[in-house]
Amino acid sequence: SAKAHGRNKFNYFTPKMQETALRRMKLIQDLKTAIKMEEFELYYQPIIDFSANASDNITKAEALIRWHHPKLGFISPVDFIPIAEDTGMIVEIGNWVFRQACRQAAQWKQTYGLDIQISINKSPVQFRDERSSVTSWTQYMSELNLSPASICVEITEGLLLETESGVGAKLAAFRDAGMQISLDDFGTGYSSLSYLKKFDIDYLKIDKSFVSNLEDNTNDLSLCEAIIVMSHKLGIKVIAEGIETELQRAMLECAGCDYGQGYLFSKPVKAEDFESRYFISSDEFRVKKNRA
Ligand code: C2E
Ligand code: MG
Ligand code: MG
Ligand code: MG
Repeated sequence: SAKAHGRNKFNYFTPKMQETALRRMKLIQDLKTAIKMEEFELYYQPIIDFSANASDNITKAEALIRWHHPKLGFISPVDFIPIAEDTGMIVEIGNWVFRQACRQAAQWKQTYGLDIQISINKSPVQFRDERSSVTSWTQYMSELNLSPASICVEITEGLLLETESGVGAKLAAFRDAGMQISLDDFGTGYSSLSYLKKFDIDYLKIDKSFVSNLEDNTNDLSLCEAIIVMSHKLGIKVIAEGIETELQRAMLECAGCDYGQGYLFSKPVKAEDFESRYFISSDEFRVKKNRA
């Protein structure tokens, strides 16, 4: 019976497990509210172009979601994105992220006359849902009069692993529409070289776990160098994530890396702070004007 089953289950459920399950259920409930009440905010982290002059080296920024929970305060995306993926709520959240990033790019263009390409992270779950199809996205951008090139879609290897076919065609559709594609966290998953041959991508992001070991692990340096050479041969530009020191930056630049992102340059910041730092009173870094 259900009762016996329930009792049985209770026996195997430690208080610790029960607590985790309860916390999860509460988070699912709160996420629903968060979507309705718009408790999310996008932070922006600059992506530095190593080939540009020091005075105009910001051409891109990654948008990273922040959840301000009314009672619990800040909750990391690392803690709530997986839950949003499991429950399917990532589709609505991801569409909010997309629209917010578009509005921000359009506003920066209008107010400052600057073209900043904003990268957004897109979960594999979103690729399976019609609500975030290429046509719905391009329609939104045309309503804003925003060029599709203003958005770069960051995907992870997990998407490319999906056995159901059609992933390649979906990615190609986003590219054909004028958006760019980045392969995020490269080196943490299966990192099959065959992906790079099979799927057309514009950027490869070397994961921060490699970057943080650069200074004392010569294997990691060799790996980074090999990834960069190989990417360039395939016409892919390389972005290094998680650069925290000048030495890491120098080693990557020396290895031919195209772009860098990390706390050395800036943590992810609110849109207003991004504007005041890089558009209004910039010293070290500045947004590149009149990009092609
Ligand atoms: P990610 O896409 O790989 O983003 C980079 C993460 O590294 C960000 O963490 C960023 O704050 C952090 N980071 C950047 N520079 C440094 C550095 O120099 N040192 C260190 N230690 N960390 C650095 P964050 O914002 O906590 O996001 C974590 C992950 O959550 C993201 O990893 C991404 O997978 C996911 N995420 C964030 N926003 C979204 C979103 O809007 N949609 C989806 N689907 N996932 C998101
Ligand atoms: Mg990312
Ligand atoms: Mg990453
Ligand atoms: Mg990551």
